[in-house]
Amino acid sequence: MKKLYIEAIAEKKIKRGIQLLDGKDFSGLELDDCLVTLYSQKSSRFLGTAYLSKQNKGVGWLISRQEVSLNETFFERLFSNAKQKRQVFQESDLTTAYRLFNQDGDQFGGFTVDLYNEYALFSWYNTYVYEMKETIVSAFQRVYPEVVGAYEKIRFKGLDFESAFLYGQEAPETFIIRENGVNYQVFLNDGLMTGIFLDQHEVRDSLVNGLALGKSVLNMFSYTAAFSVAAAMGGASETTSVDLAKRSKELSEAHFIANGFDLDNHRFVVMDVFDYYRYAKRHGLTYDVIVIDPPSFARNKKQTFSVAKDYHKLIAQALDILNPGGTIIASTNASNLSVKQFEKQLEKGFGQVKHSYSDLKQLPSDFTVNKKDESSNYLKVFTIKVNR
Ligand code: SAH
Repeated sequence: MKKLYIEAIAEKKIKRGIQLLDGKDFSGLELDDCLVTLYSQKSSRFLGTAYLSKQNKGVGWLISRQEVSLNETFFERLFSNAKQKRQVFQESDLTTAYRLFNQDGDQFGGFTVDLYNEYALFSWYNTYVYEMKETIVSAFQRVYPEVVGAYEKIRFKGLDFESAFLYGQEAPETFIIRENGVNYQVFLNDGLMTGIFLDQHEVRDSLVNGLALGKSVLNMFSYTAAFSVAAAMGGASETTSVDLAKRSKELSEAHFIANGFDLDNHRFVVMDVFDYYRYAKRHGLTYDVIVIDPPSFARNKKQTFSVAKDYHKLIAQALDILNPGGTIIASTNASNLSVKQFEKQLEKGFGQVKHSYSDLKQLPSDFTVNKKDESSNYLKVFTIKVNR
């Protein structure tokens, strides 16, 4: 195994418990796609075992403060520990889709595994884990014999496909999973998405259990309208879901149909959210609850949008069409933004308008996070009551 002597700043982060190796701290790094042992440049002391592989986020991951080798037994132990942590989910019939393994939260960054009924979905974030996948997958199969088949998503550059069948039985093209007792239609082999973002299940749960009761709900950046279905299940009087993508409409309807709703009180609008704000204002449409969950970054013909700079505009415009005493659910999955920085964006949007924060949700317990690394808890969802 190669030895790598690292700078003080990288050493400090490792000692703080951060597992992601940040490219900024590894200037002039020539190694890639290999296992290394890390040593301090300053003291020459052993620091741990890591693997190097460039990915969207970072240049590699620390995987242990000891010397380890990556064989099937190593991964079996990781999967067993991860399985133990998720017993509540395993025992519940109300939820059949959740995360089984979450990167550094489960002591190994670079891949995730999700469960959709009896199927697993692996996501590979770099070429090193992808090259190791036989070992990883066979350890997984030992720990999860009940999983009958699996698919994979490629989340790094360089391959000419992003989704593929991996092993076992093939899943139906679309099928229904359950979460908090609500049905959702999913698909495992069509691009990178699956029809639902599992990391939002506690937010959907709050819509099912009281937040939406008797309310009119506007769901901005709705994708397949999962928040709207949850709200409908929780007794919302009507929902409106807005997304730019044409396909979102048909997929949204599928979620509603999977729960036996008729669509009379549920609308799906294919439109830019900023255009919809203008449209709603012009037509005097107002709402009791507005959910806002944009992508971290988006670019269209007219403009670019980034959560870090532009989120305040979404709040300010929502206030114009929010009923008195209404609620805004403001969500972001931007990992480059801390809770504090996000709050600042929100405050800028609220300006002088009186409001109170009633809840902050971050990642649910199946999305285990590395508690020492705030950026691994990327999800931030504030529930905010507007007092006017
Ligand atoms: N809230 C969704 C996930 C949103 S993903 C959920 O809980 O499932 C982000 C979505 O924003 C995508 O579906 C994308 O099509 C949509 N989008 C991006 N820019 C948009 C814009 N300017 N107006 C409307 N929708 C947009």
